[in-house]
Amino acid sequence: MKTLYEVLDGSSRDEERIQRAGEILKAGGLVAFPTETVYGLGGDALNPASARRIYAAKGRPSDNPLIIHICRWEDIYAIAVDPRGMAKRLADAFWPGPLTLVLPKKEIVPIETTGGLSTVAVRFPSHPAAQRLIAAAGGYVAAPSANASGRPSPTTARYVAEDMDGRIDMILDGGAVGIGLESTIVDLTSEEPVILRPGYVTQEMLMEMLGSVGVDGTILDGKSVQRPKAPGMKYRHYAPLGELSVVEGDAVAVQEAIVRLCEAAEAEGKKTGVIASDESAAFYRADSVKSVGSRRDEAAIAHSLYRILREFDDEGVDVIYSESFGCRGMGQAIMNRLLKAAGHHIINV
Ligand code: AMP
Ligand code: MG
Repeated sequence: MKTLYEVLDGSSRDEERIQRAGEILKAGGLVAFPTETVYGLGGDALNPASARRIYAAKGRPSDNPLIIHICRWEDIYAIAVDPRGMAKRLADAFWPGPLTLVLPKKEIVPIETTGGLSTVAVRFPSHPAAQRLIAAAGGYVAAPSANASGRPSPTTARYVAEDMDGRIDMILDGGAVGIGLESTIVDLTSEEPVILRPGYVTQEMLMEMLGSVGVDGTILDGKSVQRPKAPGMKYRHYAPLGELSVVEGDAVAVQEAIVRLCEAAEAEGKKTGVIASDESAAFYRADSVKSVGSRRDEAAIAHSLYRILREFDDEGVDVIYSESFGCRGMGQAIMNRLLKAAGHHIINV
């Protein structure tokens, strides 16, 4: 299949490009598009064949459900029920934006889209091009991240093309995304709302709206024996080609430990990488030292994490040591993705 590549350049021709992409989606095709979190791989959410195509293009297991993207918040009522009004309260506060709500689904949503579940995940993204595309496609676009299963979520259209060229109908290039990590997912179907995946909208922010909000036990604890509520969470997530370890402890001790670990690995002839911060990067002498940004700027760290992981793959690094980052606020999402990439391999110093 030839994949069309269209750049959204802010000109008057963008509307035409988006309409064309909408027609492709309506006809059952697949289009990758920018959102404020990461690039999504869209298909018509109400067409079972589109869902099957998404799973095939990503190489994703078909019991890993898709998030449905809408472009007007009231449209949630066509596909989901909100028995306790909690979705409305959260939508008022955080939509459009990087928050996904899990609710009981309505009949109209095919189980192919929900991976066989009777619940559905819904999000109203804030990215203007995403909103226009969803409207052009008829209002309901199922979209997982636009990476091949097992690779980091793409933060630029070039990374989408690396994974998806020849496998989908079209890529809409809207430049680099803003946030760089996937949306927060909150399950509203249990007695207490539960965060299934942390993201830019934090537990603290949700608690202000709803009072008590739990966090799924599998999020930061690799050894949890709990059965994950989001089926996607049971699958091994992205792991870099090099062996990644997260080093935890007092800041100075962590830096010294990483220096020693790199020296030992180099002595064995291995190519070494370090995930550092602006504050510490100059301290290291590895083959490839990458800063995720300043520790004072969690948004910057979130923004660069997936790009850095892809770069280590491209450079053929054998071992990677990462500093750890705080677990509060957005730090929870950053550590969740980092620990998953490391297969929860932690070195405590
Ligand atoms: P991605 O599309 O790659 O951002 O992944 C979507 C995530 O949403 C996966 O981890 C899914 O397991 C989760 N998800 C989607 N629908 C549901 C649902 N109905 N219940 C729980 N989790 C869901
Ligand atoms: Mg994904």
